[in-house]
Amino acid sequence: MEQFDVLIVGAASAGSFLARRLAEQGHRALVVEQLAKENLGGKFDIFHIAKEDFSRFSLPQPEYADDFAFEFSRGRTFSALDRYPKKNSGNIVGMHKHRYLLRLNNWAREAGAEIRYQTRFVDFVYEDGRVTGAVIEQDGQITEVRAKLVADCSGIESVARTRLPPDYGVENFTIKADEMFYVVLRYVVYHDPKDYTVGTRGWSYYKTWEAPEGRADCAILGVGANGSYEEAERVFAKFREQVKLPRYTVIRTEQGTTPYRRPPYSFVADGFLVSGDAACLTKPSAGEGVTSSMVQLEIAAEEIGRLLNEGGYLSRARLWPINVRYVAAQGKAFAGQLATLIGAMSTTAEENDFFFQHDIIFSDKTFAALACGEPLVFSKKEMLHMAWVLLGGVLGGKVRLCTIRSLLRSMKNGARAEQLYAQYPASEEGFEAWVLRAERFWKECGSMAENEVQ
Ligand SMILES: Cc1cc2nc3c(=O)[nH]c(=O)nc-3n(C[C@H](O)[C@H](O)[C@H](O)COP(=O)(O)OP(=O)(O)OC[C@H]3O[C@@H](n4cnc5c(N)ncnc54)[C@H](O)[C@@H]3O)c2cc1C
Repeated sequence: MEQFDVLIVGAASAGSFLARRLAEQGHRALVVEQLAKENLGGKFDIFHIAKEDFSRFSLPQPEYADDFAFEFSRGRTFSALDRYPKKNSGNIVGMHKHRYLLRLNNWAREAGAEIRYQTRFVDFVYEDGRVTGAVIEQDGQITEVRAKLVADCSGIESVARTRLPPDYGVENFTIKADEMFYVVLRYVVYHDPKDYTVGTRGWSYYKTWEAPEGRADCAILGVGANGSYEEAERVFAKFREQVKLPRYTVIRTEQGTTPYRRPPYSFVADGFLVSGDAACLTKPSAGEGVTSSMVQLEIAAEEIGRLLNEGGYLSRARLWPINVRYVAAQGKAFAGQLATLIGAMSTTAEENDFFFQHDIIFSDKTFAALACGEPLVFSKKEMLHMAWVLLGGVLGGKVRLCTIRSLLRSMKNGARAEQLYAQYPASEEGFEAWVLRAERFWKECGSMAENEVQ
């Protein structure tokens, strides 16, 4: 039977990144990818990441006339009534996904990782109830592969995590239809050169944005909604009623989903790690997941590499520092953002406009924090200012009392989430008690689907 240190399911961004990091340390990593190489990442064309993430994660650079599509630095987010723009800082790089994933695959292979295309993860292999490898299928042939750790990087389907027995150590939930963010991208040609775009514009109320496409006359109009593509189209129609866009012709439309729910409470179990979309590691504000996952994978690769050098079985207890370090690095802030955003979006268009006008939650500072995955922190002075302006809004008939209640509740929930995750248990001990508290908390928060544009 073949033996690897780590078997990774999925050769997209998360799987390739982990394979590279482990192979760099001299460990034997096998990546199995169900798709043929030419179909990898082919569901949609353009994706983007912050330019600084290339150096932050030592990623390979895209190249002109290949995977590079565009770069821009001007980003602004507008109110529901298309006013009071807030700045989005930082440079963004857009890339052609299929070709950049092939680059990441090569990058992993150069370090010594092996990638097998058209090879499917079927199930785990267990010994004494613990994961010791996987059953895979290639060319209709089923084989068993031994590995000290199996990493699920299979995307939203979470094919490996969902096959784990209940109580194995990582929750085996499937990501339900109402726990996804449904994205519709319209690739358009603008009719008038004066409308050509070089930056992005966003309208957070409608979760709608305009971004460059790479060619001067083209742009991408994106919309996302919790619940369904129909909901995304309904919101886009509402957006079109309110915001005047340049005249355009649609060339093609793409659709896709990204997870929009809290991640599992633990990412590790005996001989197992989950990452990427399979672990719901997407930005709460935008559903973007490529480099959010890398924050966790960088930590995971370091810890796994150390344990492989030490030898012995990679038990959940030994892998636990991955949970602790990730929660401290990003998980805590993401939990706070998610809890805040659940309630902050349930407003009318006029109220949203009022908040933008007065920098209530929707300020340059907030958008900078959301873009960097940092905690949304409001000082006492800011809270007092908000309370004062909101009081004026209520007295002036611009804001409903129920909106203020839900806004205050969402801010309080954000702070509560941060506190809860700050108390994430340092070892497996105390985890069950912590999960009980976390379950109660998320139940109280409700779901994003309850807060769509009215
Ligand atoms: C329309 C849209 C636009 C987006 N834009 C951005 C963006 O601009 N920036 C950003 O950061 N994020 C963006 N996201 C989110 C981002 O695409 C995901 O977070 C990211 O691709 C997740 O990467 P992953 O490696 O976890 O999973 P995936 O990219 O889903 O890859 C999983 C891989 O596992 C393979 N696989 C599945 N099952 C098996 C099996 N049984 N055996 C073997 N292999 C298997 C799949 O074939 C696939 O190749 C966007 C999402 C959508 C839908």
